[in-house]
Parts: sequence; structure tokens; C-alpha cells
Amino acid sequence: MEKVLVIGSTNTDMVVKSERIPAPGETILGGRFLMNPGGKGANQAVAAARLGGEVTFVAKVGDDLFGREAKALFAKEGIRTDYVLTDASEPSGVALIMVDGKGENCIAVASGANGALRPGDIAVARDAIETAGVLLMQLETPVDTVLCAAQWAAAKGVPVILNPAPARPLPAELFASLSLITPNESEAELLTGIPVTDVASAQEAAVALIAKGVRRVVITLGAKGALVCDGGSCTLIPAFPVQAVDTTAAGDVFNGALAVALTEGQPLTEAVRFAAKAASISVTRMGAQASAPRREELGSSVVR
Ligand code: ADP
Repeated sequence: MEKVLVIGSTNTDMVVKSERIPAPGETILGGRFLMNPGGKGANQAVAAARLGGEVTFVAKVGDDLFGREAKALFAKEGIRTDYVLTDASEPSGVALIMVDGKGENCIAVASGANGALRPGDIAVARDAIETAGVLLMQLETPVDTVLCAAQWAAAKGVPVILNPAPARPLPAELFASLSLITPNESEAELLTGIPVTDVASAQEAAVALIAKGVRRVVITLGAKGALVCDGGSCTLIPAFPVQAVDTTAAGDVFNGALAVALTEGQPLTEAVRFAAKAASISVTRMGAQASAPRREELGSSVVR
């Protein structure tokens, strides 16, 4: 099988659930602590591996317990970790999350080693990038590194998928190296200036993205589904109706699944159907990486 190469972030999410979120200077007793692996890159790599992709992950951790633990977890998922690099000075990425009784949260992210994944670092993975079946990236690592990898891959005809999350402005020259961009509604709005609220406005934003030079666009619309635009024509792939309990990482599972389906040669609309199915299963369960489904769970309604 052709390889899915993911370049991106890995974080450890440390969550304290308490009745309410403390005010500045305040200490609250009686919370419950949970620690979960996260980071968009890692979430997408794990999702792709669970769905049968042969995955290589390029990332950076710190020389600490969290980094070693993350690397061991990736290996356990069958992910190739040769290019999970260790930064000598920055700590592993961490997100501190406080959640109150109503599910409201407040989050502080210390990107640490993720922010130190420079173009010079990924040079060790250049061969792997240039021979991948597909290159999948997000925006929790430096944009110049994303641009560099995209240009290497595109020059060798390797399809590049960018999930532009979290939303941030992109250098104009990046678009021409992308074969597919997969924003959600707010990311599509940030990139185009067009408020995306429904299928019609999503289509307008997709056309604007294609005008910037990206070949194909998939705008994810949460429970409404995903709009696939290839050249002039757009198709809405509805979401699979499920009882959602936690939509954390729906987009990550969607993107990991999409990359797997595309390396298998599925046409884009079929690949999006496969991704929507995988994401719909993930939203019925708690957690980010924990909620990513295995291939068997997608059933025979989705082609292998
Ligand atoms: P993000 O998590 O990046 O904001 P979305 O919320 O758009 O991304 O979700 C990505 C995909 O996950 C959607 O296109 C859809 O296929 C699926 N999905 C998200 N929320 C639901 C839901 N409530 N029910 C079913 N599928 C969902």
C-alpha cells in the first residue's frame, strides 16, 4: 500500500474537570484529572493508521517523559516513528485544559517542540516526503515548514492535503503546491473573507480557494456534511446521521481517513464519503485519538 506521510503537531492534553473554572488567583479543590494524547498531527496520523493506512509521522517532541510516551504510543499504533524528532531544548507540546460542570472549557497551549519543527529538521525525511502516496499537514507547526514540505512533495507529483487548522493566514505561494485543502467553516472564512454559513456560501468560498491556485477543495460543515469542489462542480456529501456526544477531533479523523482513501485510489467523492463515515463514528465517542475508529467498524457500506 502506498504511504500516508503526516507532518504535524503532537501534544499531551491535561484536563482538569471541576465544578467551575477558577478565577485568576483562585484555587479550587475537588477536580478530576485526565491525560490524553492530542495534537492535530498526531490525531490525524493515528486515525489514518487505525483505518489501515501505512503511516509515517514527522513531528518534534521534547527530551522528556511526554515525548517518549507519545512516541511509544505512535509505535503501538503501527506508525513509523523514525522522523519523530527530539528537540534538545524545547519541552514537548502540552495543552492545559479546564472544563466546568456545563462543559465550558478554557485552554492554554504551550506548543514547545512543535514550534521548533523547522524546514532544516524535516530534511532528514525528504526522501520519504518525495515518495509518499500522499502528504497530509495541518497548521499547528510552523508555516514555513509546511510550505517547504509541500513544495518538495508537489515537485515530485506527490498529492498534498492541507487541513488549514487552526485557522491562520497562508503565504500565497503555498496554494499552488496543494492538491487539496480541507477547511471547516470558520477556516474557510478566514482564508477567503467569505462568511461560510450554508452550502451556497461554502461553494462561494471553495471557488475563491480554487482561484488562489489549489486544485480541489473539501469544506467540512459539521453535522451538515462536507462540500466537495473539483474545478467548477461542487457536491454535498451529507454527514451520516448519528447521536453526537463529543465532536472533538471530528475534523482530524475526517482528514486522516481522507488521506487513507486517496492513497487507495478512491475518487474524491468516495474518499469523502469514507472520511465522513469514519468521522461520524468518532463523534459518538469521547476523546480525540481514543475516538478514532478502526477499519472494521466502517462496515461494508464503504468500499475497501
Ligand atoms: P472540525 O472538527 O474541523 O470543525 P467539522 O465539525 O466540520 O470539522 O467535522 C468534520 C466532519 O465530521 C464533517 O464533515 C462530518 O462529516 C463529520 N461530523 C462532524 N460533526 C458531526 C455530527 N454531529 N454528526 C455526524 N458527522 C459529523
